[in-house]
This record gives sequence, structure tokens and C-alpha cells, in this order.
Amino acid sequence: MDYDVVVVGGGHAGIEASLASARMGAKTLLVTILVEQIGASSCNPAIGGLAKGHLVKEVDALGGEMGLATDETGLQFRMLNASKGPAVRGSRAQIDMDRYRIYMRDIVMHTDNLEVKQEIVTGLIIEDFQVKGVETQLGDQYFAPKVIITAGTFLDGTIHIGDKQQKAGRQGEFASIELAHYLRDLGLTIGRLKTGTCARIDGKSIDFSVMEVQDGDMPPIPFSFRTDRSSFNPRQLPCHVAYTNEETHTVIENNFDRAPLFSGQIEGVGPRYCPSIEDKISRFRDRPRHQIFVEPQTMEATEYYINGMSTSLPTDVQLDMIRSIEGMESAKIVRYGYAIEYDFIQPTDLKHTLETKKIAGLYCAGQINGTTGYEEAAAQGLMAGINAALSIQREEPFILGRDEAYIGVLIDDLVTKGTKEPYRMFTSRAEYRLLLREDNADLRLSHYGRELGLLDQEYSAKVEKKKKEINEALLFLKENYATPTKEFLSQLEAVGEMKINDKTYWIDVIGRGKFNRNKLTTLLPEFDQYSDEAIDQILVEAKYSRYIEKQQHQIDRMHDRLKVKIPEDFAYEKVSGLSNEIVEKLQRATPPTLFGASQISGVTPAALEIIHIYIKMGQRR
Ligand SMILES: Cc1cc2nc3c(=O)[nH]c(=O)nc-3n(C[C@H](O)[C@H](O)[C@H](O)COP(=O)(O)OP(=O)(O)OC[C@H]3O[C@@H](n4cnc5c(N)ncnc54)[C@H](O)[C@@H]3O)c2cc1C
Repeated sequence: MDYDVVVVGGGHAGIEASLASARMGAKTLLVTILVEQIGASSCNPAIGGLAKGHLVKEVDALGGEMGLATDETGLQFRMLNASKGPAVRGSRAQIDMDRYRIYMRDIVMHTDNLEVKQEIVTGLIIEDFQVKGVETQLGDQYFAPKVIITAGTFLDGTIHIGDKQQKAGRQGEFASIELAHYLRDLGLTIGRLKTGTCARIDGKSIDFSVMEVQDGDMPPIPFSFRTDRSSFNPRQLPCHVAYTNEETHTVIENNFDRAPLFSGQIEGVGPRYCPSIEDKISRFRDRPRHQIFVEPQTMEATEYYINGMSTSLPTDVQLDMIRSIEGMESAKIVRYGYAIEYDFIQPTDLKHTLETKKIAGLYCAGQINGTTGYEEAAAQGLMAGINAALSIQREEPFILGRDEAYIGVLIDDLVTKGTKEPYRMFTSRAEYRLLLREDNADLRLSHYGRELGLLDQEYSAKVEKKKKEINEALLFLKENYATPTKEFLSQLEAVGEMKINDKTYWIDVIGRGKFNRNKLTTLLPEFDQYSDEAIDQILVEAKYSRYIEKQQHQIDRMHDRLKVKIPEDFAYEKVSGLSNEIVEKLQRATPPTLFGASQISGVTPAALEIIHIYIKMGQRR
């Protein structure tokens, strides 16, 4: 064999997959259509956002690259939902798309065990349902027992702008047509999805003076746990807020008959929560205006991304609708918006390792699995890369549970439920979101990164120290009382916190108030020894300690439940509330335990709950 692992595609999934595999010691080849486009932002040059920020932090905590690249190339950092609870906050950064691409290309090119080739993969080499390598358009063959496909939106990609269509994987780049046909012929379950992007406007043609300014946070918080927070001070650019108006809506409405989305030209299903502007106007015509964000694409601010105005309307309509917006009356479009349809693989064809069930050694990760977003792609890429490398080393697979990480939720949702529309992560998808916060991803996951060889000893030691500090402090707060002496009450008053009437556990004193480092160390000077990062965690854990304990208890119960044995003669057909499809699958698979049942595609936590009740009822009888 030439290599241990071949990764097809240098997008956000392919980068993490190839880096993880190579860093774990597997001889890896990354084959991609254009080396310059490694790490390209097909759409908005922004990383993170609600629930997506969680994924980036988790990728980082496991030793992935996305967070570091964002810190290095970000040009605006914000915490979304900052006024809400920590479980639903999301970090988001606007990135310099050129610098991000170059950063990623350089990292990939400088990584040991990792080779890069600019070629188009057209098919696979397979023997006895085991992948052996890939074939390219130039007639080359690269052999490896593991292949990870991360072809993004390129599989049989078709771009639409008005009635114009062209084959492309992204504007200006070849579509991956032969590979798409190959995968269809292989018998994988293939569907068609759609996504779209907005026009990019020449920065000097925009009048920003009439728009609302949206600055980044000060001080900015870095994405990566490995970036030094105290010295993190990147130059930040403002974004701007503008609005559509009646004229914009009329322009769009008058051209519905020219919109590929409505004319039947586009068949693929698009992302519901990220609709095109024509879709928004058709569905919410009564709204007087829609908010749009005008975001710089690079530090030089030559072009602006018009977030909220994704469209595939004809070019003349795109210009008219943009020029109807206040501040954009003289706007010049540099790149037109477009929609793209592409093939995806129904992810129920995959195991939790992201290996296909049909072909041993063949993995898929990223947009090809029906997801949308750079972060979802990076998370899957990392996991596929790790699992391919582990399999080479004949080690056990690495699967994260739904109670451990958003990555676990993402992959479990995909492989057990499949998807009919582009899947994006939401905090509401995570059952245990109070435990799976963005801010504690390092504490939850870095030990895995270390064990896998993706994080160095020095950083891991720092995380362990932080963990120790937090545990020590929380133990103190949970086991010790504050007493309402005169002196203590006046201290409480001095820091602006409510007085206590009785002896109260410290955890409750801290949890009920609005504490920060200063207040905490005024009352408990010995806590001054702890780092800012540890104090942040101590305060969050104290505030939500009762809820966190409750969720932890639910998780423990679930783990016990998954061990429950399913009787061999269990009559699934008699369980009311299970769909026929689930019954058939369970009857066929006869899983020995509820855990076994949970691994079958389509078997949801709710289904497991019902089966569990029936098993208990049977035992009682
Ligand atoms: C027009 C457009 C609009 C989008 N809008 C949004 C949006 O609004 N919100 C959102 O979250 N996401 C959006 N996305 C999706 C976002 O770009 C993807 O989620 C993300 O890039 C997926 O990462 P990936 O690594 O799976 O694939 P990609 O980033 O698409 O990378 C695929 C890589 O595979 C390579 N490749 C493909 N086929 C082959 C082959 N046969 N041989 C070798 N290399 C190959 C390509 O060259 C490319 O490097 C949009 C994408 C496009 C194109």
C-alpha cells in the first residue's frame, strides 16, 4: 500500500481528517481539486455561531485546527446570546477568508506524514467490499486501506443563477461528476440537497455612514483553549446592519417567475433555517423589513458579504434588490449570489465511526453526509480521521456519546435518523446542554485528545491543573457553610450581594448572586490562587449546580439503562408507539441490550424509553 489513509477533499472536513490521521502517525495523502482552495469559505467567512461555536470548541479540545486558525485569522470576535445562560451562548468570529485559507494550506503542507496532491478523484479501488484506494482523472491510482471522502457540495454540483445553470462544485471550480456517478453505482443511498450564497459587494461602493455599526467584543475571547487569552488582542473590523424595505420586496416579488427556486429548476431540498431572500419574501411578505448584516470578507475589506440575502435570482434582479437598500444605492456587485444542488449520502449508510456499512475502510465526512456548515464538517472530519487512524493501529474506535459532546449528538443524529434537509447543529438537539457547554469543552474532552496523541503534554498538564483547581474549589463550596455573622453580612453588603439569614452552603451563596472574580475573592481570599479560566468555571458551576447535578443523575440513569438486557423473545410488534420501520429493524437485528438497540439507525431515545418500560413490565409479570 502507498498510504494508510487517503482523504478526498481539502475542505473543512478534509483538513481536520487529514491532520488528525497524519498527527496520529498514519501515512496520509490528501487529494484535492485545487491546493489554493484548501480551507476555502464557500459561503460566509465566519466560524462558529449558536451551537456551531460548541462544535469548534470541541474540535479544538480534541486537538483539531479550526479554533487555532480562527484565532489567527479572525477579524471580529463576538459572543452570541451573551445575556443568556452559558449553555446557549455561542462564540462567533468573522474571519479573513484569504488568510484562513493560506493558514490551513500551510499547516496541511507542513504536517509530517501528510502529502498533498492536486487531482480529481473519479472512483475507488474496491475488492471484496473492502476499499483499497482511489483512482483519479489523470489515471493515477493511490492505494490505502482507508479512504475518507469529504467532497462537500461538489458531487454532481449544479449552480443556478436565474435560468443559467452550470456544472460546478463551487463558483468557478470543477464539479465532481465521475465520483458522484461512481458512488451512486456503488449502491449507497444518494439524495439531492441545495444551498445558496449571496452576492459580494465592492466595499468602496457602500455608504456605511447610514448603517448601524456592530463592533466585536472587547476584550475578545479566543476560540482555541490553546490561545493565550491574556495576550489575545487581534485587530477587529466592524460589521454593519442594514435592512431590506418595501422596494426590495417588490423587486423580488416581481421576479418570482425568474427564480429557479420557484420555477421548478431546483429540486434539491434547501436549509430551512437559512432560506434565500426570495424564499423569505414569499413566506413572510407581510414583514416590512428583514435585517441583513454587511460583513467584511478580508482585513483589506475590499468585498462585503451580505448576510441574509442568499439568492439565485438573475443578475439584473440581484443588482436591483441590493441597490434598493439604504447605503447600497450605488453598490457594485463583484460576485453574484447563486444556488447549488449537489448529491449527498444518506448518513444512515454509516456507522458511528463514519465508516460506510457497505464498504469496509470507506469513510464519509462533512457536507457529503447531508450536513451544512464548516463546523459540522470539521467535527465529522476530525472524527473520521481519528477513527481511520485508530483502525490502522487496530485500536478500538473513538465514539463520543450524546452526553459527552455536541459532536456525539451530531453523529448520532446523522447515523441513526438520517436527514431529509441540510442538517445544522442547534443547542436544542443536545439533551444535556447544561453539561455540554462551550466553555467547558476542554475539561470534557482534552483527555481524549491527549490519549489520541493530538494534544501535547504541556497543554494537557495545564488542563489537568485547571480541572484540579475547579474540583477543589467546588468541593470546598459544597462542603462548607457561610455563617451570617455581622462581619460576613457587611462583607456581603460591600460587594452588593443579598444577605443571608441562616448558615448557607457557600455554593448557594455564590450561585444565587451575580458574582465575578473580584467579589468572589473578596469573600474567599484563598480563591485568588485560581486562574481566571478556573474562576469562570467555578462561577458557572456554582450558579447551575442543582441543574447540573440533575442532568448528571439523568445521564447516570441512562447509562444504567443502556446495560439493560432485552429478552431474546421480546415482542417488539406489541410495543405501542414504535413505528413499523423500527420494529422491523429491531426484529432483524435482535440487539442483546438497550445499548445495542440504540446503535441501530432510526432507534431514538424515545423509542428506547418505551422498550425499557415494556421490558420492566414483562419482568414484573
Ligand atoms: C454556494 C454555497 C453556499 C453555502 N451556504 C452555506 C450556508 O449558508 N450556511 C452554511 O452553514 N453552509 C453553507 N455552505 C456550506 C459550506 O460551504 C459547507 O458546509 C462546508 O464547506 C462543508 O465542508 P466540507 O469539507 O464538507 O466541504 P467543502 O468545503 O465543500 O470542501 C470539499 C472539498 O472537496 C474537494 N473535492 C470534491 N470532490 C473531489 C474529488 N472528486 N477529488 C478531489 N477533491 C475533491 C473540493 O475541491 C473541496 O476542497 C454553502 C456552500 C456553498 C457552495
